[in-house]
Amino acid sequence: MTVLIPKNVYLTIVAACVRYANKRIVKDDWLEVSGIFIGRNEGNDVYITKSYPIMHQKQQEQQESVIDQYKWSKEDYEALSIIDDEAFSNGEFTVGWWHSHPGFKVMMSHIDIKTTLSYQTNNPLAVSLVFNPERLVRQIELAEKKGDPVKQLEGDPGFKIFRLDDVNRGIQASYHTADYIIKGFDTPEQMVMLTQKFLIDITNMFPKDNLFETYEKFVNNKINELNSLLQGVDEYLSTLTRKGESHRIHEVLTNQTRDIRKFIAESFIKIENIRQFMNYLEYKERSTIVPKVEIILAEWDSTVSQLNAKLTAITKKYAF
Ligand SMILES: [Zn+2]
Repeated sequence: MTVLIPKNVYLTIVAACVRYANKRIVKDDWLEVSGIFIGRNEGNDVYITKSYPIMHQKQQEQQESVIDQYKWSKEDYEALSIIDDEAFSNGEFTVGWWHSHPGFKVMMSHIDIKTTLSYQTNNPLAVSLVFNPERLVRQIELAEKKGDPVKQLEGDPGFKIFRLDDVNRGIQASYHTADYIIKGFDTPEQMVMLTQKFLIDITNMFPKDNLFETYEKFVNNKINELNSLLQGVDEYLSTLTRKGESHRIHEVLTNQTRDIRKFIAESFIKIENIRQFMNYLEYKERSTIVPKVEIILAEWDSTVSQLNAKLTAITKKYAF
């Protein structure tokens, strides 16, 4: 059996999990995140097509110092059922689940076995993926117990996929790892390098709290910067005209326009990141956050679309 994982599915897991376990958060406050996989079975293989983050652990659950202490709410189960129904209309279904072990060993706890049991009872090929962001960053397998050596890894995505050997044994079931292929990367080394870079973007621009406020502030700052760049050109050209240096207008205008376009190009990458990050929200967050973010991104788009007209107006004002 092989599990096929598209790049997008992998990055969704990384983003959703790193959002609650990264360098900007004290390690004691790192939280587990969980979600589900949609896809289909072909023969013995599992083709995952989508990954949905569903929930993260609450701080007080994490403080009980037992791993995997968290509960899905009624809302989370409702999300699962909506996603599953939608998948069914596309000829797909829930093919497994995933969660994070932030900063601790990738394996299956008793609770994980119990959860996987319910998935595998419904769908014998269902899989359970366990991801540890630190494993991806440091490329090491943590020791089973204190004092044991850590194992150096190479080209490791930070996760393992597990399956129960025999569901009839219930929560006594033992488990094994399943083979997988992550599609969309040239080599495992390239995958690790690009995903580690992605992890830094997520750490910096996909905060667990005040997400909308962060993006709103970011986009408003960019709009203000752009407007003040335009105002700067206007003032510069006005000064040149006043000093009788009109012959320099063309050269200054060319340089300033180039700088403004560079600013737009650099901002564009960050703005596109925000658009992309909307795919990594927990399902229940989407209806409240996505429409608000779309409005502020539309404001940016509209400001940029007026740029040429504004530059033309400045040109007409001074270059004659
Ligand atoms: Zn677990």
